[in-house]
Amino acid sequence: MASQAVEQQFDPWTVALKIHELAEVGSSEFKSAELLKQVLKSVGFSVVDGYQGIPTSFWAEKTVGKGGPAIAFLAEYDALLGIGHACGHNLIASAAVFSAIEASKKIRDGRIVVIGTPDEEGTGQYSGSKIIIANKGGFKGIDLVLGSHPSAEWSVGKNSLAVQDVEVVFHGTAAHASASPEKGKSALDAAVLTFTAVDMMRKHLKRDANPVIHGVLREGGQASNVTPDRAVLVYGIRSSDLGYHAEMLEKFRKIVEGCSMATGTTYDLKLIGPLFTTGRVNRPLANNIRQRLVDRGVDIPTVEESERTLAKGSTDFANVSQVVPAQELSFQIAPKGTPWHSKLSLEAAVSGEAKKKLAVVIEVLSDTAEEFASNESLRKSIAEDFSRKE
Ligand SMILES: [Zn+2]
Repeated sequence: MASQAVEQQFDPWTVALKIHELAEVGSSEFKSAELLKQVLKSVGFSVVDGYQGIPTSFWAEKTVGKGGPAIAFLAEYDALLGIGHACGHNLIASAAVFSAIEASKKIRDGRIVVIGTPDEEGTGQYSGSKIIIANKGGFKGIDLVLGSHPSAEWSVGKNSLAVQDVEVVFHGTAAHASASPEKGKSALDAAVLTFTAVDMMRKHLKRDANPVIHGVLREGGQASNVTPDRAVLVYGIRSSDLGYHAEMLEKFRKIVEGCSMATGTTYDLKLIGPLFTTGRVNRPLANNIRQRLVDRGVDIPTVEESERTLAKGSTDFANVSQVVPAQELSFQIAPKGTPWHSKLSLEAAVSGEAKKKLAVVIEVLSDTAEEFASNESLRKSIAEDFSRKE
């Protein structure tokens, strides 16, 4: 009886609003995860807490009929530090859970899974949790992964950039900057040289690899009359070409080494967080999802057009698409051009528009899951596309 009451109490929109209100940041989304697990349990999903050792992750599963293809929906539910759900992950959470529930009603034979994938924004200890799960083999046994993300436009098949954050700490020798400058070795000089050299490198990078490098000087000394013995640089290094991205990292490392040598300092170079890879577009899958939207009169670019769009951001969903056929659907909840991670997107995530689009996404993704479970030739073409060399 209790479980039935929960089912009646929660619908997709109530859950989306509640998570928006909770606004828990990455790696501490305990209440949000609890709510989603409660909803899933109420309709007969079995739930395992702390999937792959991540406290706010979970695995929920329901076998329908004789079982069969395993289809996983990924739920994000982390908010942005300071502003709240301005990336609309409250909608992703609700879409994943209710697409799974709908799919479990629509399919005849199969396994429907929901995986809670916290900390997409990279705030806490389990930053980029999909990467942790993927690297630990947590998607083994899954045949298809579906996800969604609110946006200022519809698209399916957009690419993303590989990114690695890097921290460099230079160690110098402190000395009186006026009385005995010859005894000092400036860590700040090493950092400034590096900053300049990286800017110079930028103009020689392969343009078609969409290279992006952004960095800050986090520490550079305290007093003007003391040679700084410590300086810290933090960089994000990105590219739409995964192979070239590794080359960029190597070039960066050489610059750091050279600048350290030139200034007589030493350095520690540390990769911060996991490598976010580029994404893979599964064309038969992307086209299948897109066609359902076209049939509903949604104005959405073709998959080829989306693929050609310049990749600007990075996501941990990309790493998932490297290990299992996976596709994410971007759905429009705000006028084109609306800035994300802003007050406008924060409001859009609880707007009437969001409510309408959430319903469409749940219908489309659960229909896709149903066809995947019942249509062997679709499964075959998705698997073939996944095994093609890029
Ligand atoms: Zn997001």
